[in-house]
Amino acid sequence: MTHRILVIPGDGIGAEVMPHVLRVLDTLDLDLSFESGELGGVAIDRFGTPLPTPTLEAARASDAVLLGAVGGPKWDGLPMEHRPEKGLLGLRAGLDAFANLRPAMLFAPLADASSLRPELVAGLDMLIVRELTGGIYFGEPRGVEDDNGRRRGFNTDVYTEDEIERIARVAFDLAGKRAARLTSVDKANVLEVTQLWRTVVTEVHADFPNIELDHLYVDNAAMQLVRAPKQFDVIVTGNLFGDILSDAAAMLTGSLGMLPSASLNAKGQGIYEPVHGSAPDIAGRNVANPLATILSAAMMLRYSLGEADAADRVEAAVNTVLEDGIRTADIMPAEGADGVRKVGTEAMADAVIGAL
Ligand code: NAD
Repeated sequence: MTHRILVIPGDGIGAEVMPHVLRVLDTLDLDLSFESGELGGVAIDRFGTPLPTPTLEAARASDAVLLGAVGGPKWDGLPMEHRPEKGLLGLRAGLDAFANLRPAMLFAPLADASSLRPELVAGLDMLIVRELTGGIYFGEPRGVEDDNGRRRGFNTDVYTEDEIERIARVAFDLAGKRAARLTSVDKANVLEVTQLWRTVVTEVHADFPNIELDHLYVDNAAMQLVRAPKQFDVIVTGNLFGDILSDAAAMLTGSLGMLPSASLNAKGQGIYEPVHGSAPDIAGRNVANPLATILSAAMMLRYSLGEADAADRVEAAVNTVLEDGIRTADIMPAEGADGVRKVGTEAMADAVIGAL
């Protein structure tokens, strides 16, 4: 069966890295068909909108979307409705991709690249499940308005019982395939919407008696994440807290350049993209780390295309390359080390292809 993939390179290093990721996928000898779509800044320049209708239609018709990154200083001055990030939020909402999976796994050869001591992170293997289509990023009313001659800005954090229940089920399910421990993160001591979150997650727990559930306030979760991250197996949380905690988890693994993510809908269609952005500060210099996008492609093979063996092969190839001491600049040891070699984007992809 042919797997239909919509490829959206996007802006900055997204567009720079994607051709190399497609070379890696080509090496696997699978029946993949690629269509390409535009989103973000490039789409604004060409079509005047960050999410052109043909892109959304192609995404809906595909088995999976592989995305680079969007955004950049060129579009920063645009009104909120027309910014590149709006295209990304619209794509996620348009596919109803409500479950964002962000693994934080430390490849053994990179234990020294973490901002924490190696013994705190060696063997780290956790998964943050972030609710992606609700909460304060989508809540209405929102805006900045005049309040007797002074401006007033406001957003609304809102979750329905159904939205909480479906993300909780995904998270309990995933915990069942791992170490069977789920931590739900909220701010139930202050926010009513997250009191409901805690109540509903606790109710859903009744259907998953084999999973150990605990609850943490988000401030404590942030602290525990940098104090003793290996205590976590799966964390489930809302859109805003998940956004922040998953970037903190990124630093535990050494670099944003290593972190893949997946956003799934109820049909198993997914958007696969690195956690990092378009990195305008390094774009176009052949220094970006392509591994986060390569590992996102591996997640795509596993979760949307049913090609778990191919996913394992890609992840093993990445590990081999790291064991061989091949590093992009962002994961180079600060002091340098014997047997470690700095390479650019293209050579890193070549090394993965070589290992495959
Ligand atoms: P960023 O993730 O683009 O970059 C943060 C830092 O990490 C930069 O110093 C960058 O050089 C570095 N970095 C990121 N990815 C890297 C890689 N693969 N290899 C090596 N170094 C890497 O975040 P930012 O600077 O806050 O945002 C830049 C633009 O990207 C903004 O327009 C922002 O809105 C957008 N953005 C997009 C997404 C997305 O498309 N999903 C996510 C975050 C930010």
